[in-house]
Amino acid sequence: MTHPQQHPIAKAGTFAGFSGPDAPRDEDLYKCVHCGFCLNACPTYLETGLEMESPRGRIALMKGVAEGRLAMTESVVGHWDMCLQCRACEVACPSGVPYGRLMEATRSQIETNFKRPLRERVGRNIGYTKVLTSPKRLRWVGRAAKLYRKTGAQFVARKTGVLGALPGDQEYLDESLPELSKNFFVANGQVITVEGKRRAKVAMLAGCVMTLTHAPALEAAVRVLSKNGVEVHLSANQGCCGALNAHAGELESSRKMARQNIDSFLTAMPDAVIVASAGCGSTMKEYAELLHDDSAYLEKAEHVASLTKDIHEFLIELGLRAPKGSLDCTVTYQDACHLASAQRITAAPREVLDAIPGLKRVEMPEPLVCCGSAGTYSITQKEMSQRLGNRKASNIASTDAQIVATANPGCALQMTSALKRANADVKVRYVIELLDEAYSNESDA
Ligand code: SF4
Ligand code: SF4
Repeated sequence: MTHPQQHPIAKAGTFAGFSGPDAPRDEDLYKCVHCGFCLNACPTYLETGLEMESPRGRIALMKGVAEGRLAMTESVVGHWDMCLQCRACEVACPSGVPYGRLMEATRSQIETNFKRPLRERVGRNIGYTKVLTSPKRLRWVGRAAKLYRKTGAQFVARKTGVLGALPGDQEYLDESLPELSKNFFVANGQVITVEGKRRAKVAMLAGCVMTLTHAPALEAAVRVLSKNGVEVHLSANQGCCGALNAHAGELESSRKMARQNIDSFLTAMPDAVIVASAGCGSTMKEYAELLHDDSAYLEKAEHVASLTKDIHEFLIELGLRAPKGSLDCTVTYQDACHLASAQRITAAPREVLDAIPGLKRVEMPEPLVCCGSAGTYSITQKEMSQRLGNRKASNIASTDAQIVATANPGCALQMTSALKRANADVKVRYVIELLDEAYSNESDA
């Protein structure tokens, strides 16, 4: 959509109007009837009570810019940047406003038409286009981060000001550096066959951050699939799903990653493409939307999107082999936004937990309020991210559960930090790890 007329309030150096094929679509924008049903579902509105930090307020700003009435100023962009893209508003909206698609399109306009500070641009360029696009480079960064921790290189980095080139403050970045897995998870064409009758053949996404921070959970996912008679192909040349880039408005690099994954997964000719990370599954199910203008890939993208299954969803549809081993613990399940709100999957992970003998499951208050992780949001929006993390930690602690079970790496990292800040003695585990542990306890049963 193009509204080329520059409104008089647009200052020099700012831009009024959206432009190009990735601009928010009129039919999406004008679906919003300003009813406000979404307000109390929105975490940033709940925290601030401000209209401009609500879905309705952000859509009003999009319309203002689209119609040339508003300039894309720092303040306008700030309200959009504050959005977590958790999509809780989509669930609450009676008019079916596709908020996630609107915000991705708006973010792409920010990157095209708004000049972010130099250090942010440098940080984004390194992160989104150099590191996330290459699993090899990502692993190098992971190894460097391990060394950085172990060798005291932190001191040198601070002295030389290298961290100053990244968004967010240096000390916070330092604090935010996650624990890394002892061995990283690498997909390079392995095929894990099953003993006995094969029930399905799947390709599995390894992903990006999860391969560095939660490799044991990915290993558990492979074992769980095998236990259920599923042959797993960790197809070579796959990489990050592109979710972080798409959410940040870096659509071209996200498309490049999607094409690479599509080609990789299709080589296995799978019955399904399995994803153990909620955020990745959500993006992959929308690959056809991402590649809607790419005639060479659209059909393949539709095919891969239709094959993509969240691992819990897949196991329940397949018919989960209930474990005989038990786990004696109380667990509360955390709904990752991109599973509950974007993919509308809330029952399957709970059914998996309920199939584990001995495990007692309790619900936490406000299950659909985002934990504040939201990809790189925890780095770029430190204050709001921590407020929401604290809110989630307090809701988790109120259940007296020993374990909070999740299905998403970003949430796992965020809850680990928030629970630590709250001095709450609650462990963060993946649903799939608990199931794997129950299977491994079968010899004791
Ligand atoms: S609920 Fe939907 S239609 Fe109503 S204000 Fe929110 S986005 Fe607009
Ligand atoms: S995506 Fe989440 S944070 Fe953004 S407007 Fe919707 S509910 Fe609020």
